[in-house]
Amino acid sequence: MSPIVAQAQGAASLPRVAVLATGGTIAGTGGSETQTTGYKPGVLTADVLLKSVPSLGKIAQVSGEQVSNVGSDNITNEILLKLAKRVNQLLAQPDIAGVVITHGTDTLEETAYFLNLVVKSDKPVVVTGSMRPSTAISADGPSNLLQAVTVAASREARGRGVMVVLNDRIGSARYTTKTNADSLDTFKGLDAGYLGMLIDQVPHFETSVTKQHTTATPFDVSKLDALPQVDIVYGYQNDGGYMYDAAVAHGAKGIVVAGVGAGSESLLVLPAIKKAIGQGVVIVRSSRTGSGFVPADPAYLGLLGDSLNPQKARILLMLALTVTQDQSRIQEMFHQF
Ligand code: ASP
Repeated sequence: MSPIVAQAQGAASLPRVAVLATGGTIAGTGGSETQTTGYKPGVLTADVLLKSVPSLGKIAQVSGEQVSNVGSDNITNEILLKLAKRVNQLLAQPDIAGVVITHGTDTLEETAYFLNLVVKSDKPVVVTGSMRPSTAISADGPSNLLQAVTVAASREARGRGVMVVLNDRIGSARYTTKTNADSLDTFKGLDAGYLGMLIDQVPHFETSVTKQHTTATPFDVSKLDALPQVDIVYGYQNDGGYMYDAAVAHGAKGIVVAGVGAGSESLLVLPAIKKAIGQGVVIVRSSRTGSGFVPADPAYLGLLGDSLNPQKARILLMLALTVTQDQSRIQEMFHQF
């Protein structure tokens, strides 16, 4: 079990929200208040993060735990499993109303979508982060953390799947993606919009997602110590297909094709993809554009990634391979989740 590093603060009558810290810019420090690049992510611990936002105690009884303290480029499958198991343990406690995860923004959407598929509760789970380190002028971390805890404590947020809350917006983990490397307004729900927004710290929900999540999925992390290796191979002009061979040689059980346009595969790579399929590797087509839907097309090989971007398709394929090798069942999952 993760150590409790910050004891509950806030009046006993308020809902209890557990904050699990994993690192990232929200816990990062830079040299000066103008430095928003080149800083060190994952420095501040959960207790320091919570103490930096005293208003949290007016919204919930908040306690903190440190799961990892890394930039999100260093989040591994091992950390994902540890985090998911802890989230499920906490949500099983009757006194916990919701969970917040603080995370680096670079791969935040992957962790959020993973949790969306493996959390077994209707209680709110909210992933947040920040684009500016804690030492920057107008750092966005404190406000994002306050908003995330507000949503996690809200009864209206129940049953909506895992949510991503930053910059006043509430997004669904299924659709939300980081669209800009630098700007504060980077998380967008491409194709689906936002679930809602916060105004004066009050969550307002406008929409809900139709894809299934959390309690409606067959994935059970409590029995998992590792995840099958799934790699992403990017499509581009004059692609020789060697990356497929390399992924298979390194043990890939699945490969997500980040294909051009609507998941197209060039004539040059099709032989390599065919060879991988012949070796039992499951191929899923997605789009390198990062949004849009991949349609069936007899000219190409592999299952259809629906509207999942390559990094989210990888998360689903890893989990799908933990429960089945049946290609039609895996295809169904890509349309369901
Ligand atoms: N490199 C950081 C990370 O993902 C960026 C951020 O958090 O905004 O951990």
